Amino acid sequence: MRLVLVGPPGAGKGTQAEFISAHFAIPHISTGDIFRANLSAGTPLGLEAKGYMDKGDLVPDSLTTAMVKDRLQQGDVANGFLLDGFPRTTGQAEALDGILREINTPLEVVLEMQADEDEIVGRLLARGRSDDSEEVIRHRLKVYAEQTAPIISYYKNSGILRTINGLGSVAEVTERAISALSR
Ligand code: AMP
Repeated sequence: MRLVLVGPPGAGKGTQAEFISAHFAIPHISTGDIFRANLSAGTPLGLEAKGYMDKGDLVPDSLTTAMVKDRLQQGDVANGFLLDGFPRTTGQAEALDGILREINTPLEVVLEMQADEDEIVGRLLARGRSDDSEEVIRHRLKVYAEQTAPIISYYKNSGILRTINGLGSVAEVTERAISALSR
């Protein structure tokens, strides 16, 4: 299964991605995790990404897309993958289509997790990551609404979008996700 998980920061994508990728036995590819790994390893990519991440801005498409292209060339994606946190702009969505077209393996499903803003801010504050101050969280939500939300219509138009409610216990949401993906 070739799958993208989309939803606002704090909707629970990372947590659900773990369960979904285990269930379908596909690698979980989180661009945020890859950036953070580069950051702790002190690579040039990590250093470049840091300024954007600290502010809650998106890392430029050119850097992000090149990183994903590289990742999708590794052998473990032969049976599919779950992308979490990518694409986040229509430019990235188009680039992903291009990358997948080259290898003749189109995206199959985009799963959207919905959650309302108050719930999200509470969850993110509780998570306590370094880019989770209230100010940065509000900014990330604004960036989501302006730059990422448009990809939902992009995928709706291509007919591969499925939407679930992201509120509830982790187990409830996992069940909704797996059943939406098994239809
Ligand atoms: P996440 O772990 O998905 O919340 O991502 C943490 C941060 O990494 C984001 O706030 C962005 O600064 C950066 N990032 C992750 N994925 C992307 C992406 N697809 N495009 C641009 N920036 C990204």
